[in-house]
Amino acid sequence: MQLDEVLHKEKLTRDEIIFLLKLKDENDMRKLIKRADEVRKKYSGDEVYLRGIIEFSNYCSENCLYCGLRNDNANIKRYRMQPEEIIETAKQISNLGIYTIVLQSGEDYYYDTDLIAYIIYSIKQHSNCAVTLSLGERGFDEYRIWKLAGADRYLLKHETANQKLYSIYHNHQMVGGRIRHLKFLKSLGYQIGSGNIIGLPMQTEEDIADDILLCDELDLDMAVFGPFIPAPFTPYQNRRTGSIKLTLKTMAVARIVLKNVHIPATTALATIDEAGRIKGLTSGANVIMPDFTPLQYRENYEIYPNRNTLKEEPNNVKTLLTLQLESIGRKISSERGDSLKLYFGSDRILHYPY
Ligand code: SF4
Repeated sequence: MQLDEVLHKEKLTRDEIIFLLKLKDENDMRKLIKRADEVRKKYSGDEVYLRGIIEFSNYCSENCLYCGLRNDNANIKRYRMQPEEIIETAKQISNLGIYTIVLQSGEDYYYDTDLIAYIIYSIKQHSNCAVTLSLGERGFDEYRIWKLAGADRYLLKHETANQKLYSIYHNHQMVGGRIRHLKFLKSLGYQIGSGNIIGLPMQTEEDIADDILLCDELDLDMAVFGPFIPAPFTPYQNRRTGSIKLTLKTMAVARIVLKNVHIPATTALATIDEAGRIKGLTSGANVIMPDFTPLQYRENYEIYPNRNTLKEEPNNVKTLLTLQLESIGRKISSERGDSLKLYFGSDRILHYPY
């Protein structure tokens, strides 16, 4: 296969995606990253969208083998933020000029349908922020009610499109179930985000290619690819950390294949490499998701250890990111950063029916 030809194709086959993911030569890698950066610039411009995350509960009823928050892990200190505290934190984020609030937790049914609806509604009353939910798989009726309460987006990673692996990681569950949730969320008018974890045990480049193709099929608004980081007190605690190179290659290939989609430079990437955030942004990413969970809770949201979450005071986070972005000729956007699919190219004409 000719690298230059593949990099400029409008639509890539599975074999071509695998070919790109398996590139080893440094020069070829550079060409891949450069092409991804061009595609990012064409579809998203030079602005970087910020999403302020509030991890409001680390309780989870699930037991994913790779995750430090799994229900069976008795070695982490569990916490729940109270609704008013969540709403207050959201206000602080919007006062900083960050116009997306991501409400994230384990699958925690303490926060029932009405309580989540109340939190969403209150945040929307106090700001013009977009609200993204990242609460795991919940009821279809709940998704409907939360949309009515004002939620704009839902983030639900599929983790792997390989049914055999999905079943191993998730206690015999079916990836088809997760896909049904994503499709239903999209049908309700949510902007949807999904993605995988790079370097999970037994995963191959072929699996990652299928993950990218699934993201394409689902017509995602945001696609997330972060490296696997083993968490203590989990069945995978002694496995190898995902490769930064493969994560960056995946992000770059995903940008070339998916084009007008948001791709974040994840906290996990910044955790395994000090310069990970910048490397991600130059490999196709256009989003950063700084964590604004109050510090007294944040260290207990241990999906994996030693997360690089920008521990500065909230006021300083934006300044720090501005400086980092200036070094690569990029800047923070002052917009909400809605789906890039809401617009026709650079004309920014609304064409979605919601
Ligand atoms: S990955 Fe999500 S659902 Fe699975 S154990 Fe962790 S927090 Fe719970």
